[in-house]
Amino acid sequence: MALIDDLRSLNGIRVHEASFTEVGGAAYFTARRGLDTHVGCAGDGGLAGERVGQAAGRPVVLGPLGHGNATVIRDRLPWTAPRLLGLATSIGLGDRLGLATPGHIRAVRGTGVACVLAQQSIREMTRTQRTPEEIIDCATWGALQEGFRDGFGADADHLQRPEDVDATLAAGFTFFTIDPGAHVNDDADGMSLEALGKAFETLDFAALDSSADDLKARYLDRRFALSGGGEVAIGAADLLRAAVKYGGAVAHTAAMYRHLSGKADRQVEVEVSVDETESPTSPGEHYFFAAELKRLGVHWVSMAPRFVGRFEKGVDYIGSLDEFRQSLAQHVAVMRTLGPYKISIHSGSDKFSVYPIVADLTSGLMHLKTAGTSYLEALRAVAAIDPGLFRQILDFARGRYGTDRATYHVSAEVSRVPAASDVADNDLAALLDDFHAREVLHVTFGSVLTADGGSRFRDPLLGALRRDEEAHYAALERHIGRHLAGMARH
Ligand code: ZN
Repeated sequence: MALIDDLRSLNGIRVHEASFTEVGGAAYFTARRGLDTHVGCAGDGGLAGERVGQAAGRPVVLGPLGHGNATVIRDRLPWTAPRLLGLATSIGLGDRLGLATPGHIRAVRGTGVACVLAQQSIREMTRTQRTPEEIIDCATWGALQEGFRDGFGADADHLQRPEDVDATLAAGFTFFTIDPGAHVNDDADGMSLEALGKAFETLDFAALDSSADDLKARYLDRRFALSGGGEVAIGAADLLRAAVKYGGAVAHTAAMYRHLSGKADRQVEVEVSVDETESPTSPGEHYFFAAELKRLGVHWVSMAPRFVGRFEKGVDYIGSLDEFRQSLAQHVAVMRTLGPYKISIHSGSDKFSVYPIVADLTSGLMHLKTAGTSYLEALRAVAAIDPGLFRQILDFARGRYGTDRATYHVSAEVSRVPAASDVADNDLAALLDDFHAREVLHVTFGSVLTADGGSRFRDPLLGALRRDEEAHYAALERHIGRHLAGMARH
């Protein structure tokens, strides 16, 4: 009998068929035993685990989805390790529960869009009590389970400090999102010319490897022709505002970049993001920021300006689409002039009305970042699998929203989210289509997942998703699939 047939007949074990991979005299696979997924091998596969039988005359070992085994799998099956994505049209799919990757793969496979399957910020890792190693391991296991050989990236998102770079570099991340947002001076937009002039003189020019005179010589009263015909004209007020607003961010980004380049023992790629600031990035400021980063030797594959309008978590774009299109066209012209690099859309989930605009104007030079929307799809699946658990999470989230919303840009009103007792079982899942319920459930994920050390909601939530993993994957495939459909160019 063939090896795969013998594996199928092992007692109490159900092999994920798509995972079965033979290489170098060993066969690797993932399999369910009870509610848990394990990694297995037949033959000399190098995995730690227990011997559970024989297949085609070879010993079969089944082991835990731990870091040691993940390292073995990445070594033997290189396509389960993260790689560089370059300028390919791409989507970042954050997975806060560690179970979403198979659903993400099913959505993205065959679309031609490259994917990041491991993506989390240090802030989110803290909120979900996960380590950088775990984030990558979960992507590895998902890629093995689905037999996904197209490759994927690993994004260490929103890095703010050098030690964040160290931790994620050591864990094997390939894509580093430098976030100098804390060094963007949002007050610059409202400052008088005089105040800007004073603030300009106090900039840390040494950190910029420049001087006030140098900066003026480079930009003041100059017009920069843009690819495609437009131009950026920088007058005195424009220069002062751009330098005061983004000067510190330029210096911090360059320092973080040098730190990363100095420590990296392999090729890595970089994104620069200033999306989490109060005021939008004007095209002129984008030009100044990117030109200064280039001057300081920073290389990046994507950049996330702060766009006009509101990119609230888990819901569609709020604002004028015409204004967004006009502004994006200018950002794209700057990108084509100083790049090319990808325009990165953060808080990018569920912005269905803007995807066609971005795909069209950038000609596919776009990266879309999503994360919380997959958590919401997990909740949608749980609403059907275990309505009682979903009800408890809903009421807990309603109680937490007032506190947890503080660090997010959201406008939902908790009074418009019904108490669990007022909703029939059959209507629970539909809450995931409601603006207010989505935001309330979205921003409370950290509190939900860490309540009572995870025993209150996280463990039962993971248990429910393991009980019916296909329902979870189907919800993800459908919802992320809608995003990818919007990104397709027509
Ligand atoms: Zn972001």
